[in-house]
Parts: sequence; structure tokens; C-alpha cells
Amino acid sequence: MDFKALLLKQENNSLKASIEQLNETNLPQGDVLVEVHYSSLNYKDAMAFGNKGIIRKFPAVPGIDLSGIVVESNSAKFKSGDSVVLTGWGIGEKHWGGYTQMTRVKSEWLTLLPNGLSLKMAMQIGTAGLTAMLSVMTLEKNGIEPSSGDVLVTGASGGVGSIAIALLARKGYHVTALTGHLENTDYLKSLGAATVLDRQSFLIHKRPGRFSMETETYAGVIDTVGGQVLAAALSRAKYGSCVAMCGLVGGTDVDTSVFPFILRAIKLIGIDSVMCPSDVRELAWRRIVEEMPKEIIERATIEITLGQIPMYAQKMLEGTARGRTIVQVIESQLEE
Ligand code: NDP
Repeated sequence: MDFKALLLKQENNSLKASIEQLNETNLPQGDVLVEVHYSSLNYKDAMAFGNKGIIRKFPAVPGIDLSGIVVESNSAKFKSGDSVVLTGWGIGEKHWGGYTQMTRVKSEWLTLLPNGLSLKMAMQIGTAGLTAMLSVMTLEKNGIEPSSGDVLVTGASGGVGSIAIALLARKGYHVTALTGHLENTDYLKSLGAATVLDRQSFLIHKRPGRFSMETETYAGVIDTVGGQVLAAALSRAKYGSCVAMCGLVGGTDVDTSVFPFILRAIKLIGIDSVMCPSDVRELAWRRIVEEMPKEIIERATIEITLGQIPMYAQKMLEGTARGRTIVQVIESQLEE
């Protein structure tokens, strides 16, 4: 059984990506053999190509998510022919990822594709969509309803941001999209954003003092950016609001104070999709099928091949990617 995979190798302290022909002797350990149909490009994958510490052992197969068909299974939970989706659990980091036409994985990492979801749609949603849904569920669990007030989504044009906007708008929330690319305003409104704000203006302190609290504006925040943007969002969050934070594209250090917490009782809650328990994932996927408008996910997606991944990863690191980028794996050619 020959198949193609994108391998990332370390050469003289830099990384080189190449598509190679492999066979079953190259496959990793695992109790389920999966033919991968689609994967996707997430910010973490872009960081892997940028040698930013996501992958530490080379050669490696990147790609933090995949969807495909079970070819062989030694697990009672799965049988040949099942459609499955896999996000997180360290694939594309510590284990082989999705940029391969064949892989072996642990059965406990797999989720049966929910009815109503195609293999392609599973990756249009992918890690980004799962994270967006986990963030929406966190706001709900903390009492934030459409009637509570505006919800701010940062890094709005990105994968997580785009899907979070669509999910929230569909549920009736008034969504404010924060972007560094105001030229994406029509796109963000087409996803359901009611208001679009410019990131640079948002970062300007209106009141004096490094840790000044700004006017109470948002009942909820889904933050994919971190850094200064998270600090600014905390200073504008309403009394009793909830901030679900998942990302770091704007930086890992957050220059904030105790004031948002002790003066406004704001809850700051971290979102993790990688080690998220299976029962929570299954619920999130079911809700995505029910609640994600299909025409919107189509609008927010572009499709690329294995060979195009490095170029798109670069664009993502530069902050110019928009929406979701899915990878057609099974039909990608060796020469790309
Ligand atoms: P994308 O690259 O698709 O989106 C990020 C968006 O953030 C961009 O489209 C851009 O939106 C904005 N942005 C880019 N660069 C900067 C910058 N320097 N400062 C501020 N904003 C910027 O990434 P994803 O949506 O895939 O992921 C978003 C974040 O969430 C990442 O940090 C990722 O690692 C994290 N994540 C975390 C998960 C978890 O389990 N905790 C799971 C999935 C993702 P705009 O043009 O509108 O400004």
C-alpha cells in the first residue's frame, strides 16, 4: 500500500517540507487505519511550518485535524467503512497529523462523523469550528444569552473567529467583530456580524491610566488573539460578563490588572480543544451539525492541495488568511 504524505524535516536548523511516497512500513502505531480525505490548515499548523515549537521531533507529518474513512480497525468502536473525524489529541504535534493519505491512530481519538456532516464539511469546521462551538457553549454555561448584550469576537476574519460569528448570530446574539482588516467588513457582515470594529482604534485607551477600565460594553467575548487585545477586551467587558479565550495570534503576554475581576466580576475562561474530553466533543459536534449554517461555512472556506500548504501557512502567520482553509488530501499529487 503506497500513499503520499507531507513530511516536515529539519535541515541545518531550518524546516523543509516535501511530499513523499510512503508505504505501510512507515505508518505509526495505532489500532485504527484511516484513509484521510481532508485535513485543514489551522494557526497551530502555520506555527509548525514556521518552526515555532509546535513540533519537536522530525521528520514529522503535520496537520492537527483530519477526516476520513476507516480501512481497518482493531477497536470494537469502529469498523471498516466508518466515516470519522479527528481533531487535537496531539496529532500534528507529537503524533502523525492529517497531511497524509493514510495513517494509524488510537481509536479513543476518533469521533464517528455525526449524521448530516460530510467528510469535507467536517474539515470546513475542523479544529477551528470545534473551538468556536466550545467557546459559545462556555458563554452559555456562564449565563450569557442573546438578551445579555453584545458579544465581541476578536481575530474575527480567522477560522475560529468566522465560525464563532456565524454560530452566535444564528442564535440571535448581537455580534461585534474585531478585525485588523476593515476591508473584510462585508465578509464579516455576511457571516452575521452586526458591527465591525477596527483593531487599532479598539486598543486606544479612552480613559487615563495603564489599567483604566473603559465603558462597560460586552456581555461576552470570544478571544482568539490574546495579548493587548485581550487586555483591552477585559477592560470593556460588562459587570458579570464572560470572556472565553483560546488564542495567541496577538501575543502570549497579557498586560492587565485585577480590576476587571474584582470590580466587574468578569469570568475569564480558557478554551482547550486538544485534550477536551470525548463526551464534550461529541456534544459540540452534534450542535455544530444542528446550528452551523451550511451556506456560511461554504462562503468561509477555500480548498487547497498538500503542495500548497507551506504557502498558505506563511500567509496565515502574516495574519492575512481569511476564514477556513481545507486541504484535499486523498487526491493530492506527488509532484506538487
Ligand atoms: P487564523 O489565522 O485563521 O485567524 C487568526 C485571525 O486573527 C486572523 O485572521 C486575523 O483576523 C487576526 N490576527 C492575525 N494576526 C494578528 C495579530 N498579530 N494581532 C491581532 N490579530 C491578528 O487562526 P485560527 O482561527 O485557526 O486560530 C486563532 C487562534 O486560536 C490561534 O492562536 C490558535 O492557535 C488558537 N486556537 C486555539 C485552540 C484551542 O484549543 N485553544 C484551537 C484552535 C485555535 P483579522 O484579520 O480579522 O484581524
